[in-house]
Amino acid sequence: MVMQADAVIVGNGPTGRLAYRALRDLGLDAVVVAPAPNPGPDPRTTALLPVSVAALDRLGVDVRPAATPLPELTIQTTGPLGLVSERFSAADVDSAYLALNVPIGDLAALLPLSDTVEAATCGIDYAGGRPTVITETGERIGARLVIAADGIASPTREAAQIRMHRHPLGLSAYCAPVTLESAHGGLCIERYDDVGSVTVIPVGERSGSLISIGTTPAVERLASRQATDIAAAIAGRQPAYGSLKLTGAAAVFPLSIGWATSPARRRVVAVGEAAHTVPPIGAQGWNMAVRDVMALHGVLSETVRVGGDIGSASVLGRYVRNRRTDLVGRISAVGLLAGVATNPIAPVQLARQIGLGALSRLPGLKRGLMRAGLG
Ligand SMILES: Cc1cc2nc3c(=O)[nH]c(=O)nc-3n(C[C@H](O)[C@H](O)[C@H](O)COP(=O)(O)OP(=O)(O)OC[C@H]3O[C@@H](n4cnc5c(N)ncnc54)[C@H](O)[C@@H]3O)c2cc1C
Repeated sequence: MVMQADAVIVGNGPTGRLAYRALRDLGLDAVVVAPAPNPGPDPRTTALLPVSVAALDRLGVDVRPAATPLPELTIQTTGPLGLVSERFSAADVDSAYLALNVPIGDLAALLPLSDTVEAATCGIDYAGGRPTVITETGERIGARLVIAADGIASPTREAAQIRMHRHPLGLSAYCAPVTLESAHGGLCIERYDDVGSVTVIPVGERSGSLISIGTTPAVERLASRQATDIAAAIAGRQPAYGSLKLTGAAAVFPLSIGWATSPARRRVVAVGEAAHTVPPIGAQGWNMAVRDVMALHGVLSETVRVGGDIGSASVLGRYVRNRRTDLVGRISAVGLLAGVATNPIAPVQLARQIGLGALSRLPGLKRGLMRAGLG
């Protein structure tokens, strides 16, 4: 028997959950199909830019009780000029914070699901012209619209033959929850050195989410060491917080960059990491997913209002055109930053030190860059 819904959302990560919230907000009957969430802790946190916090507010999701405000960011780079450092403050762009940092598990809890089929999908059947999502356990769910929010490998995107251009960067991110000897005072510090990067994103008063990016072999070597050795190695590269202690399970994420230039086809639209992936630099990853969902919400809201077909080619075409410019700009900028920021060769180190140092002499440019990153 085939279950019917207005829309099927494949994936129960933060993007699938937000899409569910957005569709329910429009009064649409949406079903989320995904295997039960992994019970283990996820060390990632999500720094939500002010524009995303406002978008979530519009959907009735208030992240503030679960969030640590980040009013200041310091970017440091080591190299031929010694240590060059530049501070970015929310006050420079008339904002209360640069981002609100939310543990990814808390984000999921803020976006509960009530209509779910707990199974992995294994394909789409187009018999009859409309998509029917098929699960590994044999359920079939037909809908006018399928939202692929099933992550970087996205079997749903692949089943709909939506092309994703993705390039592995040869880099990985080591991520772990930490406690700090010295309070961070809301200051997030990103340091780029001759190994890669070390960033501690504040959580609570004296904790943080540590992210260290480097070549994949270097990150794997780091991850294979004892927790105390890892903490000492990181504190040696970033002494600002005194000693560090790893407080939970760490994870390694291989990094790639890419996007689906045309993320909709045959009533399927890919959003979040199913449609684009960037390294965790500049906190753009899930913030782009929030923009995807809000753009889809806008297009569908208009369609629902006039009683149109939410999965039609013209509706999804509007969505694709709406997202294109923003995605090209952000993915190119993060790609450029990833190349410059994590490259250890001396001429590149020097160039990034000069570039970073120049920002303090060009406050207009600095504010412009901040507004572009946050906006
Ligand atoms: C170290 C690190 C730090 C980060 N920090 C930030 C940050 O500060 N700010 C920011 O904006 N972004 C950040 N990001 C990026 C952010 O974490 C991702 O963009 C986000 O988690 C992507 O969510 P998603 O729901 O699109 O994909 P996922 O979280 O990958 O979820 C996909 C879901 O699909 C499900 N699924 C997979 N296959 C199937 C199938 N066949 N059938 C059904 N379901 C399926 C999976 O079970 C999963 O739940 C960071 C990333 C990393 C690695």
